[in-house]
Amino acid sequence: MELSKIWLSSPHMGGKEQEYVKEAFDTNWVAPLGPNVNGFEKDIETYLKEPVYVGALSSGTAALHIGLILMGVQAGDEVLCQSMTFSASANPILYLGATPIFVDSEADTWNICPNALEDAIKDRIAKGKKPKAIVAVHLYGMPFKADEIVAISQKYEIPVLEDSAEALGSTYKGQKCGTFGDIGVLSFNGNKIITTSGGGALVTSKKEWRDKAVFLSTQARDNAPHYQHSEVGYNYRMSNICAGIGRGQMEVLDAHIAKRRDMHAFYANLFADNDAVTIFEEPADDYFSNHWLTSILIDSDKTNGRTREDLRLALDAKNIESRPLWKPMHMQPVFEKYPFYGNNISEKLFEDGLCLPSGSNLTDEDRARIKEAIISFF
Ligand SMILES: *Cc1c(COP(=O)(O)O)cnc(C)c1O
Repeated sequence: MELSKIWLSSPHMGGKEQEYVKEAFDTNWVAPLGPNVNGFEKDIETYLKEPVYVGALSSGTAALHIGLILMGVQAGDEVLCQSMTFSASANPILYLGATPIFVDSEADTWNICPNALEDAIKDRIAKGKKPKAIVAVHLYGMPFKADEIVAISQKYEIPVLEDSAEALGSTYKGQKCGTFGDIGVLSFNGNKIITTSGGGALVTSKKEWRDKAVFLSTQARDNAPHYQHSEVGYNYRMSNICAGIGRGQMEVLDAHIAKRRDMHAFYANLFADNDAVTIFEEPADDYFSNHWLTSILIDSDKTNGRTREDLRLALDAKNIESRPLWKPMHMQPVFEKYPFYGNNISEKLFEDGLCLPSGSNLTDEDRARIKEAIISFF
């Protein structure tokens, strides 16, 4: 009998989700508005603690797109973007006809490097164009160097679009990720720390931006009895069904973060005596990661040349999913023609790095299988 698949990160329901969804059916709020949408937004606002406003949207990508529009990004503009990330951080720049300027990572958090960022800003200004926005990402739940990035943003007066799709529940100096940028973005896709099957949210301290985001996401209808439009709109609002799942998920978010962090501790213990493996962990006490995905770097000089790809294949043979780190955008065929600033730290991370199964729903039996597979590989 083939063993069941162990996934990298799969949906994990808490139990109350179906009650909220049933209520939506019972009251016929089967639409992209309703009590669950409002309730889910309130739940997130409360959770994030800072004075912020949340708009629930159909995806994290939609929130990034609307975020760039609110920041005034237009065709021909330049937007700085962390190179090592999921393509959804960068695609909306192209939706708007703007140009992505990619920036390397630094080794502590694997996120946007403050030095490379400042070099890029100075060089773009010298070349005649000041970038319109900075897209910075908290990869795998690890907060980026928020103090430094926000200081650069303020110094050059370029707003930060904070891609917190992977970092709900993470904190930097006690402040929740998603609340550092001029606009923050959350994702509730199926593989994220909590899911609404598909969904996202835009977070901002400016109420008028939150309201504008909802306006643009509901086809930009002016206030009139007929359909009247003075701006281009989008169909990006979250449905009341999905938001019902989200309300149930919010009740178990902290419990699921604790389980992800426990998975990280499991791997830290497993690799403690393995000097070929470096586990990705918080570089200092200021950082608290939700450890959405536990990741490792493999030094192939210490494994007789065996690489992260060899480990991936060995795990795959035992029906255990793992995945290389995000391939940097400046190495992707669709983006390679755009400028890049950095020292190839992200390229090296991509070469050596692997994400391991990290779901909050992994069982002791799953752990035993993972442990056995990893020990037999090394
Ligand atoms: C998942 C993800 C997104 C996109 O979110 P969707 O809800 O899937 O559109 C954006 N950025 C990062 C870093 C992500 O991991």
